[in-house]
Amino acid sequence: MIVRPIPFPEELDRGYFGRVKRLNGVGSETEMVKLMASWAGVAGKSRREVSRLELLSKVAGTKLSRFVWQQTTLPFRRAITSYQPDLAHGSNAGRSMLWTSGMRLARTAAFFCPVCVHEDQGFHGQSYWRRGHQLPGVLSCPKHAVPLRYIDDGAAFLSPPSQYLSIAQEVDPIWAAEVSKNDVIQRFLEICAGLMDRSSPLEVKSVSAILKTQAMMLGYQTHGGAIKAPLLSDAVVRAYGRKWLGTVFPALADKQDGVLLSQMDGVLYLNKSASSVVAYVLASTLLFESADSALNALQSKVNVSRHHRGSLNIAPDQLIRAYVEGRGNHSVVASLLSVSRPAITARLLAVGLPNLNETSKQNSFAAVRAFFIEKQTLSQSAAKGKISVEDMEELIRNAGGGLSDALRTMSRPSGRGSGKRRAKQLTPDEVTKVNGAMAIKFSPNIRREQLRNSQVEDMEVPNVAK
Ligand SMILES: [Zn+2]
Repeated sequence: MIVRPIPFPEELDRGYFGRVKRLNGVGSETEMVKLMASWAGVAGKSRREVSRLELLSKVAGTKLSRFVWQQTTLPFRRAITSYQPDLAHGSNAGRSMLWTSGMRLARTAAFFCPVCVHEDQGFHGQSYWRRGHQLPGVLSCPKHAVPLRYIDDGAAFLSPPSQYLSIAQEVDPIWAAEVSKNDVIQRFLEICAGLMDRSSPLEVKSVSAILKTQAMMLGYQTHGGAIKAPLLSDAVVRAYGRKWLGTVFPALADKQDGVLLSQMDGVLYLNKSASSVVAYVLASTLLFESADSALNALQSKVNVSRHHRGSLNIAPDQLIRAYVEGRGNHSVVASLLSVSRPAITARLLAVGLPNLNETSKQNSFAAVRAFFIEKQTLSQSAAKGKISVEDMEELIRNAGGGLSDALRTMSRPSGRGSGKRRAKQLTPDEVTKVNGAMAIKFSPNIRREQLRNSQVEDMEVPNVAK
């Protein structure tokens, strides 16, 4: 026998597990999992065969897909994915996903609203962990507009939040109030909530194509090569401020102005997930007027042309042959391979092959030949190609693409912001300590147009091999 409570509305999976464990008077988590497994008649099966989420859904008396959809943060974390995008959240075919990442958290620490705690105690007779408070960037309770409190300990979910009322940290009320007045952040939270409502994910490829179309219209850089237009990542840093970004996307909080961050800028050109769903939501808020228009656009189907897909499928030796034949001119290489210019440029820059021009005014081909083959100095080579030393340097940097990428990865600060996967998000307290008085504040009610204008003025756009 086992006591099987019905999950409360929006009760987080981990909190529900804690409640089941307490009601059954079981001391350890492992013991509780064993008890659930033997009750469900699957004792002795591995976690891989029967995930904890499957057991919890059986205890709750609901279908697995429904449990995953309503009680976990998976619908958010997996809202936009390139991995099995056809599978609904919690589908039986995606069981391996459920035991590896089904019950992961979407943010660092366990958050609760003190007013919800009191209300829930009055209404349900006890408090519980609400899923909506565990989403990245939520600093106030959407219902009560009071700052959330939190405990930086994943095990906190095993006890009811009422237990932490007096010892939890509180999000700075002034900061929480500023955030709730920030239009862009509010749009971010609305889009997150909209994505959470979906029972299946959106595919990265189509989301990325939609974002790219918008970004092109607004003049942002939409490829991964040399920087020739304002970067979406810079616009995001300006609109949100580094402090709040530290709680949702630490790599952005550390980012230098004018430097491409593929985890963020890559949402516009990578066919596989650039990073977490957060990056796609951040992009959507800046590219669309409202949360509704963003959600509508993201959920509309687009056809990614086969032609475009095929273009990325060029063997390295074929690519180099075409580059040699086209004397380094990207437009010529594109027509030789019958692919689009942006696609081939991204591909060529990724392997360190910059665009080389040969006109009477500028001859970057002559310049790099002077430098690499004739062993002339940097300034002599630039003069030979009638280009500036800065442009010459940029050409050489692009030519060392593989090396500079590796060096950039090596020189990233360790800990937050490092590694390919998302680094640990900071808690509100940590982010205040890191940023301190130097915290760059966001401008509330920032408008997209203002943002773009200021960005064009502020940013130095290197003038590279046109
Ligand atoms: Zn509340």
